[in-house]
Amino acid sequence: MADKLTAVKGMNDILPPASAEWEWLEDKVRLLMARYAYRNIRTPIVEPTALFVRGLGEVTDIVEKEMYSFEDRLNGEALTLRPENTAGVVRAVAEHNLLYEGGKRLYYMGPMFRHERPQRGRYRQFHQIGAEALGFAGAEVDAELILLADALWKELGLKDVRLELNSLGQPDERNQHRAALIAYFEQNADVLDEEAKRRLHSNPLRILDTKTPTMQALVESAPQLIDFLGEASLAHFNTVKAILQANGVAYRINPRLVRGMDYYNLTVFEFITGSLGAQGTICGGGRFDYLIEQIGGKAAPAVGWALGVERVLELIRAQGQAVALPAPDAYAVIPDASALPVVLKTLQALRALGVSVQMHAASGAGTEGMGSMKSQFKKADGSGAHFALIFGQAELAQGRVAVKALRGEKGDAAQAQTLRPLDDIPSWAQGLRAGG
Ligand code: ATP
Ligand code: MG
Repeated sequence: MADKLTAVKGMNDILPPASAEWEWLEDKVRLLMARYAYRNIRTPIVEPTALFVRGLGEVTDIVEKEMYSFEDRLNGEALTLRPENTAGVVRAVAEHNLLYEGGKRLYYMGPMFRHERPQRGRYRQFHQIGAEALGFAGAEVDAELILLADALWKELGLKDVRLELNSLGQPDERNQHRAALIAYFEQNADVLDEEAKRRLHSNPLRILDTKTPTMQALVESAPQLIDFLGEASLAHFNTVKAILQANGVAYRINPRLVRGMDYYNLTVFEFITGSLGAQGTICGGGRFDYLIEQIGGKAAPAVGWALGVERVLELIRAQGQAVALPAPDAYAVIPDASALPVVLKTLQALRALGVSVQMHAASGAGTEGMGSMKSQFKKADGSGAHFALIFGQAELAQGRVAVKALRGEKGDAAQAQTLRPLDDIPSWAQGLRAGG
């Protein structure tokens, strides 16, 4: 045998039965997005590298060290596997002039790629679900998006999720704060680590994000952006807070919350859980009023968030919630291979009527290969089906199939076997659905 090929490090296969949890989550998201009138958008996984360099900012973790970038082998174009999808959505919105008739509410789901050290809750291919509202300047849309995320946690039955909120103000307010921050860090240069020294003049805000223990006291007493906000920025922030309060959504103001991309202004937020250890941020977002213009579109305000699907699913598991595994309504037991044409015809008719049926499939050729009745019933049981359909020769000769309940108590009436006519499948098909 040849050497076994394995998946790329940090990239996971999502296999059944766990994939059922993904479908369950995606179904809930689709329903919820429809309730808030957010529409689905699907953009390419590969984008021009310049989109992320320009959109996210050169001095960010993602652009500095996490991107999977390569050259198109024919024309040498610089390309990147998307590390996030806000930039891609904004590119598409600008390219297709989607805001021509007013604002748009959009959502997406899909894989993202970041070259990080793989660990629990941190992968190199991971999945995000994101919602973006573009073309709306009002604080009520920031609040709507936060309420939408909060509703999703409730819909998913999540506990122990808290909301942290901050305002980054507008660029001029940030510049004033930035100057004060640089002066403050320069006065305390001996406490800074190498990374902080390097970022002191390029991106001092990011220093507030440091995890270096010896710098914590320093960043805690650093000048706070909130003290530099003007009236309009404060009013925007207050409206968001008032709407959250009116809706009973608890939040904590975290003046050090700055987020990982440079494109944010005004409202930023994260949903964090204490149940997942170090990778506790399940969702993050904020306003990005200057991004559309930055990547060459007509200036328009926007706000959005993205959640990490792997982390949300892990939280669901950590909190002991079991997602129901899918099982077919019925399992077709086939004692004799000569019945196969009738069996498949019957199963097609049942499926067309909405019944889910798993056909017993042979591991070898001929009737022998179908396996013994005992082994077929074992498989029927293992499938989780509520009923076995038994296509025995004697019953088929009378134009009938035997239906046996698999899930009732022993000796129950439900255990009894009934005969059903093959020439009138609609008369009994619905009785098989969802356990009858
Ligand atoms: P972190 O601080 O954990 O690196 P981030 O700020 O880089 O997160 P965002 O870019 O805001 O994350 O992405 C939104 C969400 O996507 C995160 O809150 C997280 O749930 C998820 N996420 C980000 N990076 C990864 C990853 N490498 N693996 C799994 N999920 C991730
Ligand atoms: Mg990160």
